[in-house]
Amino acid sequence: MTNGEPIHECRQGTRCHSRVRDDEGRWHGGGIERPDTLCRSCEESAFASIRQLYDDWLLLEAAKLQPPPKDRAPKVTHSTPYSIPIRLDIDTLQSAIEDETLTWARIITRGDPVPTQRQKCVQKCVAIVAANLGTLIDQTWRHHWRMTPRADGGDELIHVGLDGVDAVLGLADLHRRTREVLGLNETRIWLPDPCHVCGVKALTSSSDQEKVTCQACRAVWAKEEFARLNGVGVLDTKRAS
Ligand SMILES: [Zn+2]
Ligand SMILES: [Zn+2]
Repeated sequence: MTNGEPIHECRQGTRCHSRVRDDEGRWHGGGIERPDTLCRSCEESAFASIRQLYDDWLLLEAAKLQPPPKDRAPKVTHSTPYSIPIRLDIDTLQSAIEDETLTWARIITRGDPVPTQRQKCVQKCVAIVAANLGTLIDQTWRHHWRMTPRADGGDELIHVGLDGVDAVLGLADLHRRTREVLGLNETRIWLPDPCHVCGVKALTSSSDQEKVTCQACRAVWAKEEFARLNGVGVLDTKRAS
């Protein structure tokens, strides 16, 4: 940062939507006024993802009744006539959406009652969270107890420290994971060049070609920004390779 202003970097760092490159070629999160927060662009993107979590939950519910895509079907080691593939990934993600939205809805409302029925509960909790995103992101750091799966298959209660930005990023990530589990992100076009942030050859273009994502370090660029940073024509030449 060049002008000596008391400016801070977006907490998303190299994954920031409005990140900038310094003279030495290093990436920095976009400038923000308050430390340890998100720039407007990252915040808006995360908020947009959170608003979709109830729809995501419904999509997951519907997907449980569908046969899994071939490359995702669990490997059947014992073929019995009764082996029905269970989409554990879907179930886990649905539970995560339910648990996370309930946790933060309770914190926001200071414990207002929510419906006991699963679907009604997640609908209500997403509505509470979506209507209070500003309150959510301003939550101060606090301890939470979380159930987390252990390697041996059991669950374990662990202690984690999270603030409102963690909450927002965590909830937004559930939207990303939903799209991944449902295969909605998979119309990928792989680009021939290595990522100039992490150096791995893992760049993909979205199906509408508006966005370039590094699948290794998760950096994201708008098409124009990517072309500007890498020299024009990258997106035009990829089909030839
Ligand atoms: Zn940012
Ligand atoms: Zn990368």
